[in-house]
Amino acid sequence: MVRKLKLALYPSLVVALLIWLCRASLGQGDADLEAPGLAPFPTTLAGDATTLFQNVRIFDGKSATLSAPSDVLVRGNTIERISAGPITVESNAKLRVIVASGRVLMPGLIDAHWHAFMAATPQLLLMTADPSYLHLLAARQAQATLMRGFTTIRDLGGPVFGLKRAIDEGVMIGPRIYPSGAFISQTSGHGDFRFAFEVPRTLGGPLSHSEVEGIAAIADSPDEVRLRAREQLRNGASQIKLMAGGGVASPYNPIESTQYTEPEIRAAVEAADNWGTYVTVHAYVPRAIRQAVAAGVKCIEHGHLIDEPTAKLLADKGIWWSLQPFTSDEDVLATLSPVSRKKALEVFAGTDNAYQLAKKYKVKTAFGTDVLFDAKIANRQGAILAKLVRWYTPAEALEMATADNGELMALSGFINPYPGKLGVVEEGALADLLLVDGDPLENIKLLEDPDKNLLIIMKDGTIYKNMLPN
Ligand SMILES: [Zn+2]
Repeated sequence: MVRKLKLALYPSLVVALLIWLCRASLGQGDADLEAPGLAPFPTTLAGDATTLFQNVRIFDGKSATLSAPSDVLVRGNTIERISAGPITVESNAKLRVIVASGRVLMPGLIDAHWHAFMAATPQLLLMTADPSYLHLLAARQAQATLMRGFTTIRDLGGPVFGLKRAIDEGVMIGPRIYPSGAFISQTSGHGDFRFAFEVPRTLGGPLSHSEVEGIAAIADSPDEVRLRAREQLRNGASQIKLMAGGGVASPYNPIESTQYTEPEIRAAVEAADNWGTYVTVHAYVPRAIRQAVAAGVKCIEHGHLIDEPTAKLLADKGIWWSLQPFTSDEDVLATLSPVSRKKALEVFAGTDNAYQLAKKYKVKTAFGTDVLFDAKIANRQGAILAKLVRWYTPAEALEMATADNGELMALSGFINPYPGKLGVVEEGALADLLLVDGDPLENIKLLEDPDKNLLIIMKDGTIYKNMLPN
């Protein structure tokens, strides 16, 4: 009876929803979002404004040295002109001139392995709290992420499609998001966070909590993996994330385990490839990495326990290696279970070797932090980047977090949500820029304190922070 009623109501609900969606579209009713009496964001300029940076020294994302003193003109969301001589622009109401006095202008930072929904929220809360509350926390963290100078993140699992939309529409403040949607995992895989009693799963049966919320998608055959991958693409994923091997924080899989079979991974690869994009996989050990490569994935997340022939394989095949400087230090989650802690120590032991091999074979290496469940560690996003100087020069580390990561973002092909060049300061590139008080090529630790050292943060031509006196 109830079911019949629902069916009868359905068409009118759809019509009502469509009308509401049209009314709620961008640009209409924006005034309603602002609390009365609250001044608009003080340093924000509308996207159609023009900004002239006078007298900056540029780290362009690629060179090991700063440019000579230059002027940079940003019009709309694009870097229009860079000149070693002064640029003159007719002054008008929409022109903002930044007198930079020789300070360093660099590309906005890119984190290639981030979880906007989960980075700063404790795991227990994520598993139990009202989802609407969790989304508000994630939105708050997105703003903090941008204020750390990270203007783009590649999100490797979690429900962030709504957050991305709200940021892109200017409703909320945050970085550009390259979303994966739910990470796809086999039963007992790294994405299986169900309680012990939640098996057996019946095919087509009810979804577990993390699946309903869009964090994980559990799939156990090529057909199921294909379906789940297509669902993420349908909802706006710019790449697909699959769990292809054991992980640290998950309860039911040894770190050494290989997850999925080649045909299962290939099903996701085909779905992604048809959409012009790619699959990236979580994998630590050689066997898991090799199976994923054989199945056609284009990027490996982590890989800390790799061996030399497998590192060479990544280089030979031009596979991206998205590596994190996991080390046994203050940035380790205090709440890890004893089993997870043991697995974490195994991973840490591989970090140095992994970076050495990435360098030795010149594997295309991306920088990411993969912070989970801890606001304090999330706040150290820039400090985690600065750790790369154990293996790289500051210029190399910064290139990885800007130009190189920008190249990886573009791998999402014709569904790239932000077509245009990211991670570089060059004419025609998207205007994501940081003005630094000091020289990060000399002292990368400046990024450890973005509140103090990042004087200007611009994303898409809009200034979100400006500490320079006007
Ligand atoms: Zn991750």
